[in-house]
Amino acid sequence: MASPLVKLPNQIFDYFLVLDFEATCDKAVAPVPQEIIEFPVIKIDARTMEPTASFHEYVLPTVHPQLSPFCTNLTGIIQDMVDNQPPLEEVLKLFHSWMEKEVLNQPNARFIFVTCGDWDLAKMLPGQAQHFGIELPSYFQQWINVKDSFSETIGRSPRGLQSILAGLGIQHTGRAHSGIDDCKNIVNIMRSLAERGHVFHPSDQVKEPNLVKVNKRK
Ligand code: AMP
Ligand code: MG
Ligand code: MG
Repeated sequence: MASPLVKLPNQIFDYFLVLDFEATCDKAVAPVPQEIIEFPVIKIDARTMEPTASFHEYVLPTVHPQLSPFCTNLTGIIQDMVDNQPPLEEVLKLFHSWMEKEVLNQPNARFIFVTCGDWDLAKMLPGQAQHFGIELPSYFQQWINVKDSFSETIGRSPRGLQSILAGLGIQHTGRAHSGIDDCKNIVNIMRSLAERGHVFHPSDQVKEPNLVKVNKRK
């Protein structure tokens, strides 16, 4: 919960959609194509910085349906959790229906995705969509990289989620590399940055040239 004593700043968005994909992986090199296996999104009300809804699906990888032991160890996702799940194309349709239910798919809806790094929406989703010939909705084209938000507020570039949490004095919650738990940690980071007065804006509109690294994995 946001501290009742702290006045949160007005944000330029009404809702933040915190997203963190998990994908097929292996120790030395990632499988080609790499495929999304967990698709979690938490919707935050920008006035309170509190979650109001969520979308969470595990996704069947179709080119390499067998998860590597390394991937299961890293993400905690076991074979049973992806077997019999819908493939990405179906999950994207379910997600779109969820967006409609949440009244986000409207021209005047002011929402934006939030990720830790640019990999999820700059590389992973467009890369897999291109491989499978899936057309993506335009709402995936803009996001806030919370690493940039941290840099602007704290004045140094963080390495990853854990170093952001440590830098803000926030205890890690859940399991590292579980997509839904990674999202919950990003929600806590956003609330902490908002309590410090941060007004979130799309990462590709960062003014300081040193901080602009969009389309690279950070
Ligand atoms: P994360 O959101 O940091 O949990 O990572 C997203 C995805 O990146 C994971 O599901 C993996 O596919 C890949 N990944 C993350 N860390 C590693 C790692 N140390 N080695 C291999 N792949 C990784
Ligand atoms: Mg991630
Ligand atoms: Mg993750």
